[in-house]
Amino acid sequence: MSKIQDQDLEIFEAIEREKQRQAEGVELIPSENYTSEAVMEACGSILTNKYSEGYPGKRYYGGQENIDTIENLAIARGKELFGAEHVNVQPYSGSPANTAIYFALLEFGDTVMGLKLDHGGHITHGLPIAFSGRAYNFVAYGVDKETGKIDMEEVRRLAHEHKPKMIVAGFTAYPRDIDWKAFKEICDEVGAISMADISHTAGLIAGKALESPVPYFDVVMTTTHKTLRGPRGAMIMCKEKYAKAIDRAVFPGLQGGPHENAIAGKAIAFKEALQPAYQEYAQQVIKNAKHLAEELKKRDFKLVSDGTDTHLILVDLTNKGVPGKQAQARLDEVGITLNKNTIPFDPRSPMDPSGIRLGTPAITTRGMKEPEMEKIADWIDRTINNIDNEEMLAQIKEEVKEMCLKFPVPGIEI
Ligand SMILES: *Cc1c(COP(=O)(O)O)cnc(C)c1O
Repeated sequence: MSKIQDQDLEIFEAIEREKQRQAEGVELIPSENYTSEAVMEACGSILTNKYSEGYPGKRYYGGQENIDTIENLAIARGKELFGAEHVNVQPYSGSPANTAIYFALLEFGDTVMGLKLDHGGHITHGLPIAFSGRAYNFVAYGVDKETGKIDMEEVRRLAHEHKPKMIVAGFTAYPRDIDWKAFKEICDEVGAISMADISHTAGLIAGKALESPVPYFDVVMTTTHKTLRGPRGAMIMCKEKYAKAIDRAVFPGLQGGPHENAIAGKAIAFKEALQPAYQEYAQQVIKNAKHLAEELKKRDFKLVSDGTDTHLILVDLTNKGVPGKQAQARLDEVGITLNKNTIPFDPRSPMDPSGIRLGTPAITTRGMKEPEMEKIADWIDRTINNIDNEEMLAQIKEEVKEMCLKFPVPGIEI
């Protein structure tokens, strides 16, 4: 980074401080990860200079011979990784990808079903003030109050009642595996397009640790920067019959020039995900999450749905008497990063909810395993139980840092 240092000290210093934060802290935000140095090199490469509107072989600008090679590799590897019929690697990120899918396959005002936001759905699944909620008529399904799991009978009942044009099965704060076949059956019963948003779990699916919706669903999308461990961005997979509509909706429907530096990063990340070591990573993410969940339960933490099948844990802090916002702030101070989160049927407000959401992808990439999960559970427990004890928090911060420095982060030299 010597060029940044020479030219722009303010940005240089902020990046240096961020490196230190990433190196010294435990990253438990379930949507975050550490991508490889090779992916970062691609993102920071001269590919950022090139305009390439259109698709390989059908571009609107000259000089595309190398860009086409790169985008074709990304597409081929994406198809191989997920067994998809058609892949579009151009979406800038997950939200534009979802918007492109709706724009391709729905008319404005059409009815769509998605998971309630405060039960774990995403803002692109019908938040009233978001584009999705303004442009389409979203009907929300939820989780069962007793089990914390998606109530498939409610999904079926609502689908028959509202006859949606599309059903979205996708989750941003839901700790359980999804019954893709059951969703697809309901879609078929009412003639709805099936759409899976696997942004959170794509890496676990690619690593064969969770079942894939790709064989069943009409359309599947994912971000590429979460469990999948690639650069920031997204991809859309679909059955051949939707390919043209999806491609047209991405470009020129919604986007202009694709970010080929990020697309090169996606190609590299897909190649990494096709290696045997990646399956070990995917399995260890889930092992770590299950172990962390058990360790938290031992310390009397209440988990939504009482556990996890994935990388993600949702904790209800009500019995601890510490609201999610305060927990997030104090844990941040000791170097444990996570986010406050609503829990299903939360009596508190979204800005100051009852829960916290945590996940294991980033710490697993760093090489942490079961013994480290025990330490992390212990630090969370001690922080929550000593929420106003500055001395104790300072002590925990030192312990967190000491452990973290033993697990290097790609691209950061300590
Ligand atoms: C993260 C996420 C997205 C959106 O991704 P961005 O890249 O942040 O726009 C969409 N859907 C789900 C389920 C997500 O978790």
